[in-house]
Amino acid sequence: MPEELDPFKISQQQLDSAAEVMNLDKTAHEILREPMRTISTSIPVKMRDSSTEVFQGFRVQYNDARGPGKGGIRFHPGENLNTVKALSAWMTWKCSLANIPFGGAKGGVICDTKKMNDIELENLSRGYIRALGRFIGPKLDVPAPDVYTNPQIMAWMMDEYSKLAGHNEFGMITGKPLEVWGSEGRFDSTAMGGMYVLREAAKLRKLKIKDAKIAIQGFGNAGKFAFELSKKLGAKVVAISDSSGGVYSENGLDYDKLSKAKEETGELHGYDGKKYEQVSNSELLELDVDVLIPAAIENQITKGNADKIKADIVLELANGPVTPAADQILFEKGVLDLPDFLVNSGGVIVSYFEWVQNTQNYYWTEEEVYSKLDGIITKSFKDVFATQDAYKSQKKKISPRTSAYIVAVDRVAKAMKTRGWY
Ligand code: NAD
Repeated sequence: MPEELDPFKISQQQLDSAAEVMNLDKTAHEILREPMRTISTSIPVKMRDSSTEVFQGFRVQYNDARGPGKGGIRFHPGENLNTVKALSAWMTWKCSLANIPFGGAKGGVICDTKKMNDIELENLSRGYIRALGRFIGPKLDVPAPDVYTNPQIMAWMMDEYSKLAGHNEFGMITGKPLEVWGSEGRFDSTAMGGMYVLREAAKLRKLKIKDAKIAIQGFGNAGKFAFELSKKLGAKVVAISDSSGGVYSENGLDYDKLSKAKEETGELHGYDGKKYEQVSNSELLELDVDVLIPAAIENQITKGNADKIKADIVLELANGPVTPAADQILFEKGVLDLPDFLVNSGGVIVSYFEWVQNTQNYYWTEEEVYSKLDGIITKSFKDVFATQDAYKSQKKKISPRTSAYIVAVDRVAKAMKTRGWY
């Protein structure tokens, strides 16, 4: 992988830029450039033909100065330690920016879930906990779903952990189904949080959300709900894609038809007598829209295509979709690029609510969850732009990402300092 696309190097560069602007203490910077703990493990799993396959798994705990680690577990064939390290750093900044009492962590297993049946997936999920359970827990490190993991996998992991502990431990993992004390509002919380951020960004750019044109890359948990919620706001989703490409319609796509087509055929086409126009993933990114929502994977907007982005607002619902070089180009072009760890923090904020509810054994309504989420994420948005304005008044022009980093890093550094770590 070219160094400029290595996610961990990218996360370090982003920290370095913020550290320079904010004049971060040298020792704090050194601590924050590397994870606190990195765990690699081999997971033997019984397969359907009674053979045993050994999978490689990871858990990285980046920093816990402000609270237990928090971060998802990915099941992906292309998983690697560097990506997990970067994601754990981003979780640290995300939890800090949201001002919730968690540090950052992330996990992953190298596997192809498309080739596994439910029994094998269950065996792998339980195996992950047998291998790593002693390093996680409600006061230690609290995982959640991520790419190719889901609420059912969280339920199996909670069950395995509880069996090992000898008692139910619902708060050891979040993103669980409601039957085993997940939270109301969790399933669309990432996209919902993104929509609250979009509402605030639109006010800033004087953009009318109603009738705004939106393109979304990705049709998974994040992208699908972003589509549904954009429609509720009155916006027009003109393009959406999955890993095999996308569809486009100037008059707006029909969510129900596309979801049905995807469910029935596995393909995104959807028709109303005729199929929608096809677009490639790279064409989708360059469409003339008001808002572009990357909601799939990393490194989609790079120095190779940043100049061709026509959207006024880029809402980073995926983790790491814009490289640092592209970030700079977008900033200079005047595009409002809203950083991933602000935009997609709705998922972890509602995960926090789930953990709080599990800890208190007292459960909230969906309305309470959404209204508390709105309060927290809108405050984060305001913190980012207040910091940007404060630097502007000192004649320093900084991007929203650098500003968000400054808010987040400053809180973690202050917690480490107060605890006597440096
Ligand atoms: P998901 O597995 O549900 O969906 C991923 C989507 O991306 C699928 O539609 C897939 O077809 C598409 N995709 C894969 N490779 C692609 C490619 N090369 N080009 C275009 N599309 C491609 O995952 P998700 O939960 O929706 O997560 C998407 C992104 O959002 C990830 O970066 C994830 O880390 C981030 N995120 C998700 C959550 C959450 O709660 N789900 C929370 C925070 C961040």
